[in-house]
Amino acid sequence: LQSKALAKGETLFRDGDDADCAYVVEVGEVVILANVSGVERVIGCVRAGEILGEMAMLDAGPRSATAIAKTDVRLTVIERDQLVSRLASADPVMHLLLTVLLNRLRQQLHPELPPRDALVSSDAGLIRIKLENELRAGLGAGEMQIYLQPIADIYTRKIAGFEALVRWQHPEKGLVRPDLFIQLAEDSGLMVPLGRWIVHEACRIAQLLEQQSNKAGVAHSGAFISINVSTMQFRDPEFFDHLSLALSETGINPQRVKLEITESALTDGEAAKRWIKQCKALGVRVALDDFGTGYSSLSYLHEFDIDTLKIDQSFIRKMMTDQRSRHIVEAIIALSKKLSLEIIAEGIETQEAIDVLQALECQYIQGYIIAKPAPLSAYL
Ligand code: C2E
Ligand code: CA
Ligand code: CA
Ligand code: CA
Repeated sequence: LQSKALAKGETLFRDGDDADCAYVVEVGEVVILANVSGVERVIGCVRAGEILGEMAMLDAGPRSATAIAKTDVRLTVIERDQLVSRLASADPVMHLLLTVLLNRLRQQLHPELPPRDALVSSDAGLIRIKLENELRAGLGAGEMQIYLQPIADIYTRKIAGFEALVRWQHPEKGLVRPDLFIQLAEDSGLMVPLGRWIVHEACRIAQLLEQQSNKAGVAHSGAFISINVSTMQFRDPEFFDHLSLALSETGINPQRVKLEITESALTDGEAAKRWIKQCKALGVRVALDDFGTGYSSLSYLHEFDIDTLKIDQSFIRKMMTDQRSRHIVEAIIALSKKLSLEIIAEGIETQEAIDVLQALECQYIQGYIIAKPAPLSAYL
C-alpha cells in the first residue's frame, strides 16, 4: 500500500474525477464537499482511521464529491486492483457477505444507480454456505458415520488397532469424503461439535468391537482406536472435558485410545506440551500423523512425549523410487526405536512397500493392501 501526503487546503479529488482508488486517513482531517441543489456544501469530515472515496473506487465510476485537506494529512492509498485481487482470494463466504453489504451501502447512498454485479463472482460463496448448512443439518440428522481402517503388525498381520475415519452419508450426494468437508467444518465453526461426536462415536464403536470380539473370540480385543484431532479441536478449551466424558460414558480403557495430531499442532511448543500432558493424565496416547509432509523436524520426536509416529503415504511412495528418501525413513525408524516410539507406515498398497518396510524394521502398517476403511459391521 502506498501513502500520500497533502498540505492543508490541497484538493485530494474533485466531483467528476475518474476514480481508481480509495484512501484511509492516517493523520489529519479531510472535508468532503458535495453539490447540494447547485451549491457546494460541506457534507462531512473524515478523520484518522476512516476511509473515503471507496464507493467510486468500487464502481470504477466518477467521484460524486470533492475532498479537501482540512489540515496537513497523510493517507494510505488502496488501489481498486488491490481490493479486487484480495476479494478474489478471500474466503468465499466473506466475499459473498462483503459484496452484499457493499451493494446495500451503494443502494443507500445512491438509490438512483442500478444494482451492480459483484466485483468477483460469488457462486463459490453460495455453494459453500449451502454445503455448510447441509453439514450442520447432516450432523444433527445422524448422517455422519465412522469408518474403521485396521493397522496391522507387519510380521504377523494381526490387527493392532483401527483408525477412525469420518464419513458423511449425504442424502443426495452419497458418501462424501472427509477431505471435502473437514476443512469446511474447520472454517465454519462446525468442527468442534463434529469432533466431539467423532470422539464419542469412535470410543463407543471401539468398545463394541472389544465386547463383540470377546464373544466371538476374534482377536480384536485390546485393539487401539486412533482418532484424528483437527486444529480447531486441538484449540478447543473444553476438549479434555468432553474426552473424559466420552471415556467414562463408553467405559473404554483410555489406554486403548490414541489421538492423532499433526505437526502443525506442535508449532506452539508450550501449548502442545500442556496438551500432551493432559492426554497422559487421562491415560490416552498420542500419535504424530502425516510425518514427512510438514517440517518433519526430528527434534519433535524427543521434545514431545509422543507414543506413535505415522509416516505419511507420500513419503512412503517417494521412498519406493528414491534411495535418499529410503535412507531418511531408515534413520527415522532407527531413531524412533531408540526413543521407544511405535512406527506406523501409512498408505501401503503394494507387497514391494511391505518388503522394503520389513527390511527397515517398521513394525506397523496401514493401507489398502491390509484393508480399506469400512463401517463397524465389517468387523462384527
Ligand atoms: P489421514 O488422517 O492421513 O487419514 C488417512 C487417509 O488415507 C484416509 O483417507 C484413508 O482412507 C487413506 N488411505 C488409507 N490407506 C490408503 C492407501 O493404501 N492408499 C491410499 N491412496 N489412501 C489410503 P480419508 O478417510 O479420505 O481421510 C482423509 C483425511 O481427512 C485424513 O487423512 C484426515 O486428515 C481427515 N479426516 C478423516 N477422518 C477424520 C476425522 O474423523 N477427524 C478429523 N479431524 N479429520 C479426519
Ligand atoms: Ca490420521
Ligand atoms: Ca495420516
Ligand atoms: Ca494425510
